[in-house]
Amino acid sequence: FLSERSAKVFVAGHRGLVGSAIVRKLQQLGFANLVLRTHAELDLTRQSDVEEFFAAEKPRFVILAAAKVGGIHANNTYPADFISINLQIQTNVIDSAHRHGVKKLLFLGSSCIYPKFAPQPILEDALLTGPLEPTNEWYAVAKIAGIKMCQAYRIQYGWDAISGMPTNLYGPNDNFHPENSHVLPALMRRFHEAKVRGAKEVVVWGTGSPLREFLHVDDLADAVVFLMEKYSGSGHVNVGSGKEVTIKELAELVKDVVGFEGQLVWDSSKPDGTPRKLMDSSKLASLGWMPKISLKEGLCDTYKWYLENVKQ
Ligand code: GDP
Repeated sequence: FLSERSAKVFVAGHRGLVGSAIVRKLQQLGFANLVLRTHAELDLTRQSDVEEFFAAEKPRFVILAAAKVGGIHANNTYPADFISINLQIQTNVIDSAHRHGVKKLLFLGSSCIYPKFAPQPILEDALLTGPLEPTNEWYAVAKIAGIKMCQAYRIQYGWDAISGMPTNLYGPNDNFHPENSHVLPALMRRFHEAKVRGAKEVVVWGTGSPLREFLHVDDLADAVVFLMEKYSGSGHVNVGSGKEVTIKELAELVKDVVGFEGQLVWDSSKPDGTPRKLMDSSKLASLGWMPKISLKEGLCDTYKWYLENVKQ
């Protein structure tokens, strides 16, 4: 991969949190032939459009970072969208990429593919060993199908499709929607707006006790390039930071970074979701990759981006 920096690389989902970080990374590395399409230019849920696109562009590499994503509330509220849009996007892209001569494809999923009560830290082989967390099972089932599709194409055609499963991600270009986003951007925005308004209290969902692992998206982008270069196995690979915090600790950290000085109020009528979700990323570590950005550093970087972009 790194020896072919003039080859066409299609980054699907380049405007999102993950895709935009991958584009920044590839540009830094001197990849000069990125193929990018906005949602308006190419609707990845439309099979014939995707087919036409691959026939015309014939990219050599594909990084599939396009997906319908959202936090605990969005997953709970739009189950049909989460399962159908994700199945359509990944099926269209993986199948067309294979039939139009793509050399290697990387599919991205998420740590929510694992059973709700998987032993922690979660190893790759915990997949399909128990029931999923109900608040995100629709998204998870689609992502599990994507991993299996990559494996199936490798078995049947010997095609080099790999899968990376990142932990909870954050960073520039995240979705800061007050209800539908993930916890970290939701809290950043809520604390920021409370600070600006001079409010005394901020509501945080759940009990604060769930544990979550966070990875800065620039670290993920680095891991994606690493996997494209070094990994051609059938099994999916976890990509985590190995560091976990309670939602309460996270809320305090975000509060400090933003500089909000009021109180936290816990709304326990909101769901906690899965109690703990720490991935075991030793497979990736044994291949030679480690994350570099601490949560504190990453939060400061993300808040800086938020301040520069908040008006848009
Ligand atoms: P999850 O990791 O799939 O559960 O997704 P989230 O990032 O949406 O939620 C993680 C945890 O943060 C859950 O326990 C939520 O209840 C909690 N949380 C606290 N405040 C918020 C908030 O404002 N938005 C979201 N999405 N989660 C919150």
